[in-house]
Amino acid sequence: MQIAGAIICALVGIRLLQSIASAFQTQSIRSASANRSLALFDEQIAATRALRMQREDQQLHWNGYRKFRVARTVLEAEATTSLYLVPHDRKKLPAFRPGQFLTFRFQLPGDKSGEQKSVIRCYSLSDAPREDYFRVTVKRVPAPSGADCPQGCISNHINDNVKVGDILDVQAPRGDFALDPHGTSPVVLIGGGVGVTPVLSMLNAITECGSKREVWFFYGVRKGADQIMQQHLRDIADAHANVSLFVCYSDPSEVDTTDDGYQRRGHVSIDLIRDELKVTNFDFYICGPGGMMESLVPALQAWGVPKDRIHTEAFGPAAVRKPAAETTTVRGKQSKTKLTVKFSRSGKTVAWDPTADNLLNLAQSNGIAIDSGCRAGSCGTCLVAVKEGSTECCVDADCPDGSCLTCVSVPVGNITLDA
Ligand SMILES: Cc1cc2nc3c(=O)[nH]c(=O)nc-3n(C[C@H](O)[C@H](O)[C@H](O)COP(=O)(O)OP(=O)(O)OC[C@H]3O[C@@H](n4cnc5c(N)ncnc54)[C@H](O)[C@@H]3O)c2cc1C
Repeated sequence: MQIAGAIICALVGIRLLQSIASAFQTQSIRSASANRSLALFDEQIAATRALRMQREDQQLHWNGYRKFRVARTVLEAEATTSLYLVPHDRKKLPAFRPGQFLTFRFQLPGDKSGEQKSVIRCYSLSDAPREDYFRVTVKRVPAPSGADCPQGCISNHINDNVKVGDILDVQAPRGDFALDPHGTSPVVLIGGGVGVTPVLSMLNAITECGSKREVWFFYGVRKGADQIMQQHLRDIADAHANVSLFVCYSDPSEVDTTDDGYQRRGHVSIDLIRDELKVTNFDFYICGPGGMMESLVPALQAWGVPKDRIHTEAFGPAAVRKPAAETTTVRGKQSKTKLTVKFSRSGKTVAWDPTADNLLNLAQSNGIAIDSGCRAGSCGTCLVAVKEGSTECCVDADCPDGSCLTCVSVPVGNITLDA
């Protein structure tokens, strides 16, 4: 009897343990599935929020030109002025991606009395995205030394004439030279001269969102009087351990010192970058004059930085051109074969002249009007439909199928353009 009782007790105990274990199992399955559901719920909320923000942002974008009032002007350096622009309709602004630019249309007196001409120019946003204002920073462009031609039209107009209260026509922010400020990969931001503006926007955006991402900021200018945001950059470097700042003066004046002005004498060079970084695993964002881009971009590639981690912007025709090896055989063909370019609307057919460099120059030198803006393949103003034949783009720019950005395109064979 005792044995039977002990067996029954043991069986009851085992059963009890089994049910406790099963209860625990159910509980942990339940809590695992609850965690999964919660995670899924969080993901759905995040996705919905992202979608809503994207939708709101799309609603805040606009087509064509919108009126902006100049709320403030600041002389940043000897020949450089910042404009603070607020929307005249007082509505919110879309969150642009740091590095993007604005396209402006100015109405200036034309050649004949009483006539107005529109002039289109692009200027990079130089501050982090804000809901209430945009900032651009514009440097005067002088006439080339020794040349008998007028100084830069809009950059001097902005520095001389644009004042608080003026209304300007502005397109929505655009451009692919842009950084995600919430990303985590280490970045190197390089600005030469006024080309510092888009990388300054990136730096401000990264530091303002509290990111601990590693940032190297190289800024090359001739001398202290040309440098913008001196104190601002020093404050950022002092307040953010993740930011390393290198300001290089190529031709410092007597009053410039390394104490509070620049860190290095000379250009922002591959030697300096290599010595400081030691390794190549960064995303590089570079904007500067032709000489800087032409020396740094191939040097970074030669050092082993993959091409897709080098992001560039140029402010004019000095856009980094694709190497000859990447541009099919058109450049060779151009000089050997006689190509014709037909402009169907104007009813003109002209021989392609390789010294024109691009289809926009060819058109303009033959009296065919095509609106243009940046001359760097960025703003899209000179886009023209290609009715017959094909063209080749000499920089990394996006053209919709069947069209070409005439400021950076050349013909491949005989072509007909809708211009
Ligand atoms: C995406 C992008 C972003 C940009 N961001 C900025 C920025 O943040 N800040 C900034 O300052 N700039 C920026 N730029 C450059 C800017 O758009 C203008 O190109 C620049 O301000 C010069 O314009 P301009 O009207 O003053 O000069 P233009 O009138 O276009 O003249 C340019 C040059 O040509 C010379 N020239 C004029 N007429 C003749 C002639 N008949 N023959 C020969 N030469 C002549 C002028 O003297 C001058 O040296 C950006 C450009 C792009 C594409």
